[in-house]
Amino acid sequence: MSRQGGLLSGMQSSCPSPERNPGLPGSTTLKPMALELWDEDPGTVLAIVAHPDDLEYGAAAAVAKWTSAGSRVSYLLVTRGEAGIDGMAPAQAAPVREREQRASAAVVGVSSVEFLDHPDGTVEYGLALREDLALAIRRHRPDTLLLFNHRDNWGFPGSRNSADHRAVGEAGLTRPQTPATAGSSRPRILTLTP
Ligand SMILES: [Zn+2]
Repeated sequence: MSRQGGLLSGMQSSCPSPERNPGLPGSTTLKPMALELWDEDPGTVLAIVAHPDDLEYGAAAAVAKWTSAGSRVSYLLVTRGEAGIDGMAPAQAAPVREREQRASAAVVGVSSVEFLDHPDGTVEYGLALREDLALAIRRHRPDTLLLFNHRDNWGFPGSRNSADHRAVGEAGLTRPQTPATAGSSRPRILTLTP
């Protein structure tokens, strides 16, 4: 998320039970605060989000639990979050945010952190993004794919989810079947939604 964003204000304070999403076979929709309570073994995990720090708002505690139990977790960041620090030029902000992301990932036992370098703030949903994600999933072959909120809000009146979050979440759910992505695995999907 952008540091100017209001994700924290959009998070729920309760921890409801996981909600099965009947529209996506094999997928589970969880509120961010409920992820830590999800007690199934995720196996290997690939977490795909738009920005550095998205995973720290709602997923990192669960990731720490998983890696402590032996799961291998990898992070894939679609952008470097270069537009996310007020008063700092993107060229300066990108390496700062990358370092912060790698350091915070290391705290919860994650050493695999990759960046796709789509432009922060103007990520476009489309074939290019969908195929980038499909290729990463084919390469990692995770048992579980963790995605961020793809919906247009955070579940309370007046909240708006960022276009980057929506594009990345939706692209993770609608990966294309093309010659380049043939042979990709079909991981279980967890989505963090309000
Ligand atoms: Zn974000």
